[in-house]
Amino acid sequence: MKRIIFATGNEGKMREVREILSDLEGFELVSMKEAGIRTDIVEDGTSYTENALIKARAVKDEALRLGMKDFLVMSDDSGFEVDHLGKEPGIYSARYMGEDTSYDIKNAEILRRMEGVAWEDRTARFVCAIAMVGEDGREEAVQATFEGFCAYEIKGEYGFGYDPIFFVPEFGCNDAELLPEVKNRISHRAKALVLAREVLAGWN
Ligand code: IMP
Repeated sequence: MKRIIFATGNEGKMREVREILSDLEGFELVSMKEAGIRTDIVEDGTSYTENALIKARAVKDEALRLGMKDFLVMSDDSGFEVDHLGKEPGIYSARYMGEDTSYDIKNAEILRRMEGVAWEDRTARFVCAIAMVGEDGREEAVQATFEGFCAYEIKGEYGFGYDPIFFVPEFGCNDAELLPEVKNRISHRAKALVLAREVLAGWN
């Protein structure tokens, strides 16, 4: 059985990935920690896909260095884009206003910059790219979006990051007002994982 090493240290993300890939046969899914891999990776790419590939390649190299065999590495990179702000914060979503700045402050600043902007000009989305890198260097990537609007106000207690200012038209509320099980069915990550599952089904 081939191992999929998912390059994340985030337990919540790992849970979501396990759930969506649970019916995938022929693979055993493990986190980087479970595989005993630690790397400090500088994500200095210019796109989500490039950043996901940079992470996956680094973990693949480390796994090979540790003598691991019969595996592939999966990694994701995501971000929040507000069209009116030139797609900011985009690939810099985690670093926007500084990595340690709270999302209350980041979200308030985005809403301040969007003051007076009409609803039709408030289009926004989450983007998620997933890269898959084989031990032989084979590389595949998929990308998906979760389309909506930059809300007028911060709202909701669920989720994380920019969820409190992302309005989901399908549900008529902000992302942070959706129960996690609902968000995790429609999110950018869920959609990208479904696409990744199709690629993995043809992997040999
Ligand atoms: P990562 O690549 O998954 O670590 O995401 C990078 C950054 O994008 C996060 O730190 C958040 O700021 C933002 N982000 C990505 N996905 C979401 C989401 O589902 N909700 C809210 N913020 C998100």
